[in-house]
Amino acid sequence: MQIIRTIKDMQVLSRKLRAGHKTIGIVPTMGAFHEGHLSLIRSSKNENDITVVTIFVNPIQFGPSEDFSKYPRDIEGDLSKLSSLGPDIVFLPDDKEMYPNGFAAAVNIGSIGGILCGAARPGHFNGVATVVVKLFNIVMPDNGYFGQKDFQQTVILKKIVTDLDYNVNIIVCPTVREHDGLAMSSRNTYLDHEERKAAPILYKALKLGEEFILSNSEVDASYIKEQIKKYIISEPLANIDYIEIVSVTHLDKVVKIDFPVAICIAVKIGKTRLIDNIIVDRK
Ligand code: AMP
Repeated sequence: MQIIRTIKDMQVLSRKLRAGHKTIGIVPTMGAFHEGHLSLIRSSKNENDITVVTIFVNPIQFGPSEDFSKYPRDIEGDLSKLSSLGPDIVFLPDDKEMYPNGFAAAVNIGSIGGILCGAARPGHFNGVATVVVKLFNIVMPDNGYFGQKDFQQTVILKKIVTDLDYNVNIIVCPTVREHDGLAMSSRNTYLDHEERKAAPILYKALKLGEEFILSNSEVDASYIKEQIKKYIISEPLANIDYIEIVSVTHLDKVVKIDFPVAICIAVKIGKTRLIDNIIVDRK
C-alpha cells in the first residue's frame, strides 16, 4: 500500500497506470473509517486492477457553523484498517495541497444542490462536487465508489459526470448498518448513550414508510410522510429536519407513488444531525 501526498505524484502514477491499461477505482472518503467505508473499498478491489482510497476532510463542504474542526479524524487507525484490506494506493493530501492560496474555482451544480440536505446546508453540495471533480482529475479513475447512505450525493455526482463529460462510472454501494438498523456514520461517535439508543428511529421510520407504500401504493406521498412524522416525533430526543419522498433519478418530489421512489430523511438526535434513506420499488 503506497501513500501519496501530492497531486503531482498521484497524477504521474495514474498516467502510468492508465498507459499500462490498468483499471482504476477511486473511493473518496473523509476518513474515520467504519464498515461502510470498508465495504466500498472491497467493491472497488473486486472490480478494478488498482484501488485508490482518498482521505481528505474537505473544508469547503462544511458551513461556517458546522463541525469541520471537530469532525472525527483518526489517520493512524484508518491506515491500520487499510493495511489489512490492502488497497493499492492511499491519497492523503493536506488542505494546502488541495486548496493553495488563491484557489477560487468551484463547481456549481445548480438547484439540485439546494433541496433536501442542501436546504439546511447551503453550498455543501457545491463543495462536495468541487472536491470530487478535483479528485477525478487527480486520480483519473474508471470507477468511483459511493455509498447509498448519502443518496442525494450519488444523484448529484451522476449528474456531474453526465453534465461535465467525465468518463467515470458512479457505482452506488448499499448502506451498511449497525445491528439495530442505524446507518453507520463517522458522526455516530457524537451520540451519547441515550442518543445512541434513540438513533435507530430513523431506519425504523423508513421501514414503516416502506411498509405503507408497499401495502397501498395508491396513497398520497403526503399521507405516508405524515405517518413517518408521527412515528419519529414519538421519540423525545428526535427533531425532524425533513422527510421527503422523491424520484430516484432527479430527486423530484413525488405526489402519487411512482416506483421506484426514495424516502429520504434528516433528523437531529440531540445536537447530531443524522440522515438516512431507503429505496422502495414494486414487490
Ligand atoms: P464520508 O467519509 O462520510 O464522506 O463517506 C465516504 C463514502 O462512504 C461516501 O461515499 C459515503 O456515502 C460512504 N458511506 C458512509 N457511510 C456509509 C454506510 N453506512 N454504508 C455505505 N457507505 C457509506
